[in-house]
Amino acid sequence: MKLHYNRTKIVATMGPASSPKDVLLSMIKAGVNVCRLNFSHGKVEDHKKVIDTIREINAQYKTNVAILADLQGPKIRIGLVKDGGIHLVNGTRINMTTHECIGDDNQIYITYETFPQDVKPNEIILLDDGKIQMRVIETNRKDTVVCEVVHGGILTSRKGVNLPNTKVSIPSLTEDDLGNLHFALDNDVEWIGLSFVRDASDIVELKRVINSRGSNARVIAKIEKPEAIDNIDAIIAATDGVMVARGDLGVEMPMEQVPLLQKMIARKCRAASKPVIVATQMLESMITTPRPTRAEVNDVANSVLDGADAVMLSGETSVGEFPVIVIETMAKIVRNVEEFGYPFNTKQDNLDEASPNYLSDAVCSSAVFLAGHTNAVGIVSMTTSGYTAFEISSYRPKANTYIFTSNKNLLNALSLVWGVRAFYYDKLESTDETISDVNGILKTENLIQPGDVVINTAAVPISKQGKTNMLKVSVIE
Ligand code: PGA
Ligand code: MN
Repeated sequence: MKLHYNRTKIVATMGPASSPKDVLLSMIKAGVNVCRLNFSHGKVEDHKKVIDTIREINAQYKTNVAILADLQGPKIRIGLVKDGGIHLVNGTRINMTTHECIGDDNQIYITYETFPQDVKPNEIILLDDGKIQMRVIETNRKDTVVCEVVHGGILTSRKGVNLPNTKVSIPSLTEDDLGNLHFALDNDVEWIGLSFVRDASDIVELKRVINSRGSNARVIAKIEKPEAIDNIDAIIAATDGVMVARGDLGVEMPMEQVPLLQKMIARKCRAASKPVIVATQMLESMITTPRPTRAEVNDVANSVLDGADAVMLSGETSVGEFPVIVIETMAKIVRNVEEFGYPFNTKQDNLDEASPNYLSDAVCSSAVFLAGHTNAVGIVSMTTSGYTAFEISSYRPKANTYIFTSNKNLLNALSLVWGVRAFYYDKLESTDETISDVNGILKTENLIQPGDVVINTAAVPISKQGKTNMLKVSVIE
């Protein structure tokens, strides 16, 4: 069977390298499904320009590229430091202060007001992705913490700080995050990412704000703290999707644990029918080189085999020299696994009789089973809420998944979900007419041919827009 497109989706982080319209268009043509706006960097005006460009491309080229607005959350940074950076020498001492200043050999500003109260002697402080390590000697519990340099180096301005041993008391949604969230919701962004999620209540609170705005935006919980691993089941239950944020996760946790954590999180997300993104350093060397390392190629391929819905690029597309080549490369790696490595990650039925969706879950599972047994080229579904799309995708069917919906916001949102292609359809005809109509649309699009078998699912009667309760095997005329 010929695959028409990557099933595993590609998320690209936007930045100066990818914001010109011609570059972004080439990236989308090469396989980008979701653009990530990283609110840790860039000004709101710049994000607004990128949003407008993406929407223009969607309108002009009939693409459904989604936007993921990634909120910084309780990310801690150091402030500005003197020109040329600070040379931190092993065994020497330096103060971390909560008073804003230009850092020098004696003191560094940390953007965490209650740090001296929250931290304890002997706790570890990691700077710049863990490249520099310090140990807490003492705190005056007011404004200054004395640290000893364990692994030194040159420290430059605004680098990130990780405190793997410290119970960080910063709220999950900071003032900055709330401002960025409202901006994202004003712009109808489909997905909102939250960094450094610690427990399910972080997601509940974010969703409360989103709902209070009457928005349908969905939430991605970024898993990058040990607390999130401890609370992973509750977080997956509360969120709409997850990111394995390996950059910070590998600093906050022993990095050798990250490969198995990635597999564990992907498996649990698939069981819960929630999309999972694998992120960070996937093709890192391509920031400056047009060919990736062999290890990176393996990492992308193995993430597909682990069951990722999407693989993500960060610096590679935001500031890298080869934003289009990197997407072409990633798409090629993904496609090869999908064409020659299938089947992978097919899911056992875990139907829950107690669930309010038990019957429609059973219909979705049966649709995938039936598609396999009829060699169907497509599973074609109608949905208003999107529920059926997430459910069918979670089985990783061999058949293509074509979703028809009158819910415009959902068209883009589903771009993140493994294997799903969404089409706009707003007629509420009889079931017979609707099924022949949507199959006809796929035929016109050249996605299915006469003689092909497709499995149609629907909620009957169609006008009621209820839960999926019907399956039909169609042979295309
Ligand atoms: P970031 O998140 O790029 O916003 O830090 C991803 C990660 O930590 O891996
Ligand atoms: Mn991170």
